[in-house]
Amino acid sequence: MTLLTVEQIKKLKEKWIAYPIVDDTCIGCWACVAISEEVFKLDDEGKSVVITRNSYEDCSVDDSISACPVDSIKWEK
Ligand code: SF4
Repeated sequence: MTLLTVEQIKKLKEKWIAYPIVDDTCIGCWACVAISEEVFKLDDEGKSVVITRNSYEDCSVDDSISACPVDSIKWEK
């Protein structure tokens, strides 16, 4: 799940900026939030969502991807 709007995703794609997505297999373990709290937060259902940013570089997203126990996080471009 992502909080990014279709328009925001379009702008990121136009700039070829990679952004993370979280699929619906998230079990809400909180690991990605602990590692990259500037990128991920848990929604009202306890699932991780991606916070809107202009860039996701230098945000430890790769560390969150590695830490996710169910491989819910992927890069999109
Ligand atoms: S690390 Fe994976 S399972 Fe845990 S909250 Fe983040 S996306 Fe969900």
